[in-house]
Amino acid sequence: MSDTHVPSLPPYRIGLTGGIGSGKSRVADRLAELGAALIDTDVIAHQLTAAGGDAMPALRAEFGDAIADAQGALDRAAMRDRVFRDPAARGRLERILHPMIGAAVDREAATARGCYQVFVVPLLVESGRWRDRVDRICVVDCDPATQIARVGIRSGLAPEAVERILQAQATREARLAVADDVIVNDGLTSPERLREHVDAMHATWLALAARRDPSPSHRPAP
Ligand code: ADP
Repeated sequence: MSDTHVPSLPPYRIGLTGGIGSGKSRVADRLAELGAALIDTDVIAHQLTAAGGDAMPALRAEFGDAIADAQGALDRAAMRDRVFRDPAARGRLERILHPMIGAAVDREAATARGCYQVFVVPLLVESGRWRDRVDRICVVDCDPATQIARVGIRSGLAPEAVERILQAQATREARLAVADDVIVNDGLTSPERLREHVDAMHATWLALAARRDPSPSHRPAP
């Protein structure tokens, strides 16, 4: 390494969250088009619980083979049902999955390249462990009626089933209470308007990423 080598700053990090059907994936896709590096905890969780996924042996040992489908992937409906009937099962599931997701997030973040990093975390508010890991929290905000309608169209789930999921998630108010930035994507927001809003947010984050303080190790000694 030459004397003129300038160590690069750690990447600027955004935590992106929102309830089911709020539009997180749409927002994340647009941010990726604009050059952000995406690290998606849902994608990671799916990989860990796919057939042959790293979490499957521990999950089968904990919950039995009934939570795996014929290919050996996690049977999400069976697991959801199990957690619904036995609330303690949720904690057991999380104790297996969360450390594995955390390790995979760290691995991806260490190599992800982009103008900043976006951590897509559906349960960011619920997990409470993200505040210190990101520079800003951005909430995609949506009214519950629109969430229910969107998820119904996307996955064919009945309104009551979506409502059950909503009730297990943080409330709209709890999310907004921790937000540094809010992207409104309610029933009145057209896809074009959403895109404009995301593009404006991107410009703000680029500016913040460029002018933030150097990390402590790069500051002159006091
Ligand atoms: P999430 O990732 O938060 O669950 P998605 O981004 O998958 O939500 O959005 C849920 C569904 O609603 C998707 O089918 C998406 O295309 C649609 N959607 C999201 N925002 C809008 C919008 N502003 N107008 C129309 N459809 C939308």
